[in-house]
Amino acid sequence: MSHATLIDGKAFAERLRASIATRVAKLKADKGITPGLAVVLVGNNPASEVYVKNKAKQTVEVGMQSFEFRMPETTTEAELLAKVEELNNDPKVHGILVQLPLPKHLHENLIINSINPNKDVDGFHTVNAGRLATGTPTLVPCTPLGCMMLLKDYFGKKNPSNKPLSGLHAVIIGRSNIVGKPIAQLLLKEDCTVTIVHSKTKDIEALVSMGDIVIAAVGQAELVKHHWLKKGAVVIDVGINRIGQPDGKMKLVGDVDFHDCLTTAAAITPVPGGVGPMTIACLLENTLQAASAT
Ligand code: NAD
Repeated sequence: MSHATLIDGKAFAERLRASIATRVAKLKADKGITPGLAVVLVGNNPASEVYVKNKAKQTVEVGMQSFEFRMPETTTEAELLAKVEELNNDPKVHGILVQLPLPKHLHENLIINSINPNKDVDGFHTVNAGRLATGTPTLVPCTPLGCMMLLKDYFGKKNPSNKPLSGLHAVIIGRSNIVGKPIAQLLLKEDCTVTIVHSKTKDIEALVSMGDIVIAAVGQAELVKHHWLKKGAVVIDVGINRIGQPDGKMKLVGDVDFHDCLTTAAAITPVPGGVGPMTIACLLENTLQAASAT
């Protein structure tokens, strides 16, 4: 019985960070620019605390400057907008990331759209979403960028052309602004045929089973089963879900039932160790791009 190839995002992200470190050193030597990433964390969301700590650590490891700003849960919109404006005007800061989710009383869209689009390393600003939709060079959201790198690497080994994904049918499960929609734009740019399915789609399984590529970005633990997939599909699992085990411990799983899908998929990303590690590496890549453009 065939067994899927594992797409190792952890190893890919390590290689990407090594390449970023080399390019950061070159930018310093050639132009005297040290890329700087500012992360703003409002409140005490425990998951956000972990992400921010990891981001700061990896930023410093590739030779960039990390600036961290912790603001209390009670921060007003005016205070946060003033902080973003200060960072927009700081020449040492090339990338600004406001960690989401924000406390309920702060309007995420308003805050994100107050970031200078050229420093918006999350790629969530409306201007950057518009650039992406029109095929204009831009800062691309990190998780979608990471997914594309993994796909291009996998298919590039089989089909060493400029556009190794050309003509493939990609089915994306999920239509969020931060994952599903930007991935759809990136796949279209690679000449894929793209289908997006979501919570209101009828007969999801039939549509997913048409995909040469399946990207799951849903937020539902182990939703995708082997009988949803076309034999030989390449599966990218973006989901991060914490589920309880019989022994009371928590376990991380994706939106794809990994073990169930191993015999049907040609290749699959694990959770953890697939898309997750790519996200921070791509944030560093975007910060380097933003610094290089100054
Ligand atoms: P979201 O909640 O914003 O969007 C989920 C999407 O899934 C929606 O478009 C909804 O229509 C669709 N959906 C919900 N239930 C469905 C169902 N039963 N069938 C089909 N579609 C359904 O979520 P998001 O921010 O896009 O994140 C999706 C998942 O990816 C989450 O598990 C999140 O934790 C994970 N995530 C991972 C990373 C990473 O770095 N690996 C980054 C961002 C998000």
